Amino acid sequence: MPSRLWLAGFLVLLLVAPRLASEFHVTLLNYIGLYSLVALGLVLLTGVGGLTSFGQAAFVGLGAYTTAYLSTAGSLPGWAAAFGGSPWVGLLAGLLLTAAVALVLGLLTLRLSGHYLPLGTIAWGISLYFLFGNLDFLGGHTGMSGIPALSLFGVELKDGRNFYYMIWTAVLAAVWLTHNLLDSREGRAIRALKGGVVMAESMGVDTARSKVVIFLIAALFACISGWLYAHLQRFVNPTPFGLHIGIEYLFMAVVGGAAHVWGALLGAGVITVLKQWLQDWLPKLLGASGNFEMIVFGVMMIFVLQRARDGLWPILTRLIPQRRKQREVPQAEALPKKSVPQAGQVLLEARNVVKRFGGLVANNNMNLTVKAGEIMALIGPNGAGKSTMFNCVSGVDSATEGEVLFCGQVVTQLNSRQIARLGMSRTFQHVRLLPTMSVLENAAIGGHLRGSKGVLPAMLHLERGEEARLLAEAARQVERVGLKESMFEPAGSLALGQQRTLEIARALCADPSLLLLDEPAAGLRYLEKQALAELLRKLRGEGMGILLVEHDMDFVMGLADRVVVMEFGEKIAEGLPDEVQRDPAVLEAYLGGVD
Ligand code: ADP
Ligand code: MG
Repeated sequence: MPSRLWLAGFLVLLLVAPRLASEFHVTLLNYIGLYSLVALGLVLLTGVGGLTSFGQAAFVGLGAYTTAYLSTAGSLPGWAAAFGGSPWVGLLAGLLLTAAVALVLGLLTLRLSGHYLPLGTIAWGISLYFLFGNLDFLGGHTGMSGIPALSLFGVELKDGRNFYYMIWTAVLAAVWLTHNLLDSREGRAIRALKGGVVMAESMGVDTARSKVVIFLIAALFACISGWLYAHLQRFVNPTPFGLHIGIEYLFMAVVGGAAHVWGALLGAGVITVLKQWLQDWLPKLLGASGNFEMIVFGVMMIFVLQRARDGLWPILTRLIPQRRKQREVPQAEALPKKSVPQAGQVLLEARNVVKRFGGLVANNNMNLTVKAGEIMALIGPNGAGKSTMFNCVSGVDSATEGEVLFCGQVVTQLNSRQIARLGMSRTFQHVRLLPTMSVLENAAIGGHLRGSKGVLPAMLHLERGEEARLLAEAARQVERVGLKESMFEPAGSLALGQQRTLEIARALCADPSLLLLDEPAAGLRYLEKQALAELLRKLRGEGMGILLVEHDMDFVMGLADRVVVMEFGEKIAEGLPDEVQRDPAVLEAYLGGVD
């Protein structure tokens, strides 16, 4: 976010630009605004969410054609003419149609992973483009003309200078909405899509829904751009809604700075101006005409992508002062807590759990229980199957055979999100944090299920009360695990041991009744281990059940109430720490047969 002064300067410049600039430059600015809207959707979808779409131009087309059809008087059959005529009806209908189409396409294609998703978007991008050209009532390849101008408060926006304000108000509103969304509970869920899906699901985030949400928002921004375009040009044909324009939109988002809201405006500006310059100057320089600008443009794009992988916005932000990030520890009324189960009540029970990976039996007939108010340790040599067991009980993976009960309910068939909702929270052996997000925000993802405000309140920032309470809870847990000093640092800058500790804070934000910790002490220094043990004892005292996988025998023995030992996927011993420590089978397996 640029500093207030720069932002104010930019807004003043935007405001006076059409009064100072020539007709030609106003037109250019209008187009930059229209492209910015689409690119902004792609920043959210591709830059932040990691979902690449080549098909956005088709949504622009949907917006443009819907309003073109509905607002040109002659095109409607008699009974429908009563509804048509107004561009505002066209906007509403366009948004509804785009939402419906995007929902269907999203549900069909967003499940695709890897390069199948971009290919899917190319497929429907092309289909919609040809649909526009082949439907007679849309004017075929000739298109539709006679689209009325917009009027606003009785003023007809026939002139590009007036229309300019309409476009840029829409752009700034979209920037504001997107910015708000990303800075919210829903926004953290969206930011977890790129590289944190397994973690986010374990924290109760419905990642499939988050994907659909950003796909819809991107499509709706594109639709609005198309609606504005149709009433600016007052003529539409299929050409600007084809695949190559879809690729250009993607360029704008990526070149501008894929994950930065303002990068969309920068990218749209840079690419539009660059293309214009090349078109004007190259023929003069080369003394010949032809589409040389596209070739030079392509080479320049490769150069930018090579040199500035994160786009131009991060380079620009180094030059202009940024608004200082808020560094106050958030404080707000505490969130409501779940009732604590009675000490001794069985929380988790695994019955004859078998997990096979092809021919490998990673868990064989595993039985274990964890009660409220106890620390149960699961130990065993590397590769014994402890993490697999964790994944089976937490729903990250599903057991091949057997049954898992949590709080008396069979959860074998539930996914990790559903199990999280029941009050189980976990950490991961291979740390799963979002490295560019702050320690505080990472912890706050754990509190996802303790908030309920959805996307719309987030976009309008009507959820500030709940958000403050979520962040305050995250701050309390970060402080509790001893990471207060680093609260506003990016999680990726912490040492590995601290990252593990942060995972515990995140799990605690969920207010769990059962905590699963996969090797939490690995990488911690002696004093840090002591502090961790102290924290776990305190949590046990509060009635939480803790299932602990650990390598460090000393750490486990001083802490655990009961121990289960695994080897080659099977349980070889179970009991009090002292008993287990003396068990010959355990000594044989774990310590290589030392007496
Ligand atoms: P531990 O956590 O006790 O070190 P794991 O549960 O990670 O052990 O692994 C148990 C065994 O299962 C290992 O042999 C490991 O290679 C195998 N394994 C774990 N996850 C997978 C997987 N997703 N696919 C195939 N094999 C796996
Ligand atoms: Mg493991």
